Amino acid sequence: MNKKRKPQIEIEPKEFKKLGYRVVDQITRHLSGIRDVRVTNALSPRQVRKLLGTGPLPRKGMEPARLLTQTSELLFKNSLFNGHPRFWGYISGSPAPVGILGDFLASTVNPNVGAFILSPVATEIESQTIRWIAEMIGYPTDCGGILVSGGNMANLVCFVSARKAKLGWDVRKQGFHGSQGKRYWIYTSAETHTWIQKAADLFGFGTDSIRWIPVDNGLRMDVSALGRRIKDDLAEGGVPLMVIGTAGSVGTGAVDALREISAVCKEHSLWFHVDGAYGAFAAVMPDAPDDLKALSLADSVAVDPHKWLYTPLEAGCALVRKTQDLIDAFSYHPPYYKFEGEEGDEPTNYYERGPQNSRGFRALKVWLALRQAGREGYERMIGDDIRLAKHLFDQVKEYPELEAFTNGLSITTFRYVPSDLKAGDEKAEKYLNKLNEEILGHLQHGGEAFCSNALIRGKFVLRACIVNFRTTEEDVEALPDIVVRIGKKLDKKLRPMEFGQ
Ligand SMILES: *Cc1c(COP(=O)(O)O)cnc(C)c1O
Repeated sequence: MNKKRKPQIEIEPKEFKKLGYRVVDQITRHLSGIRDVRVTNALSPRQVRKLLGTGPLPRKGMEPARLLTQTSELLFKNSLFNGHPRFWGYISGSPAPVGILGDFLASTVNPNVGAFILSPVATEIESQTIRWIAEMIGYPTDCGGILVSGGNMANLVCFVSARKAKLGWDVRKQGFHGSQGKRYWIYTSAETHTWIQKAADLFGFGTDSIRWIPVDNGLRMDVSALGRRIKDDLAEGGVPLMVIGTAGSVGTGAVDALREISAVCKEHSLWFHVDGAYGAFAAVMPDAPDDLKALSLADSVAVDPHKWLYTPLEAGCALVRKTQDLIDAFSYHPPYYKFEGEEGDEPTNYYERGPQNSRGFRALKVWLALRQAGREGYERMIGDDIRLAKHLFDQVKEYPELEAFTNGLSITTFRYVPSDLKAGDEKAEKYLNKLNEEILGHLQHGGEAFCSNALIRGKFVLRACIVNFRTTEEDVEALPDIVVRIGKKLDKKLRPMEFGQ
């Protein structure tokens, strides 16, 4: 072997600086012009594959300068930008610039936040971030917690903690062999995000163990129906385990009656989990509704910094009231780990609090954003998003061809209804679903603005969810006109086909 090693992957400091500045220049150009580009150019998979080429792994490497220039061009010309002021699809936050720089910094230090000894500062930054997140949403700050990849993982971590705490045998050792044929029940509403199916499936219950509780007119869990269902299940010898409430449903932003659900859980000693992936951060508002204040009553809460804290993907956070419940659900002590500290000054080792072993420094971007904006900054930004969604709702009502449906937190739903079409009968409703689905497709491919959809009592509606600090009044005011324009054009084409006129 050569005495002097020249690893292909190394970049000398002078060169690194040049490359780094160039990348930062390209990022800056992208960010400063983001308002003037389309939200997406909606390439098909085949078009993207063509851009990348289909050749095998290159035998020879490439100059990093050319590689990085090519790559930033590829990305900035062909991506969907959720940082665009008119991106309101699904629930994705606009990434905070300080988080972008944070990821750069985090990768440089590259701490392994599985164990304190490998990541002293990063571990404590993560712990502080978790405490601040709990504080923001009014949850006890001495809770256990861990940052994970997103809302799904945060909910799964809480679910596993509930499973361990509530099943009456050692499920981690025996699995469901210990169940002695009993039925175990998990209660939630049909508005719950699909993570619940994944959780019931992955952790041994099966999706048949989910009791889908009906919702009221506001799409909130019907708490008296919940109480009745639990009593019926008990009478039949079943074992109710946990109830999942939602703080900000993914469809319409509905917040369940958390205080009342908590009382039902207390009465029957059930674990009370709240999925606050989207909506929990709205609890920071001084005028937050009482149901959001009741987050403090939950045994566990899942939140999603990459939504309303505007941190770049990926960042979710699981909070579990009793730290020991989290540790009991995940900790093993293999003989090859020697991570104990001194009495009274014990280290936090995050590998014991979640499914991951090696873990990245995802806390840094969250911590930086929290410190840059502060509590007041978030009150203002989240408040503005909520006001803008309400403004959109009010705008939509002004248009005779638009039917406003719901406005909850920062989600507004509506649909296009041609002025000369009478909604209500079955055929017209079927047509309206089809028409609005087509409108959404055109909207998502057009790049002028980006929405997604919800299905409300069988009706397909357009849905704008604003978790975007770049969105302005002018942006939301543009949406109704865009939808009406697309709707008119498509109706002209589709109606004769549908109604045979
Ligand atoms: C977004 C969302 C999830 C899933 O979160 P991911 O970050 O996409 O994994 C779960 N529940 C609710 C209510 C959500 O809004």
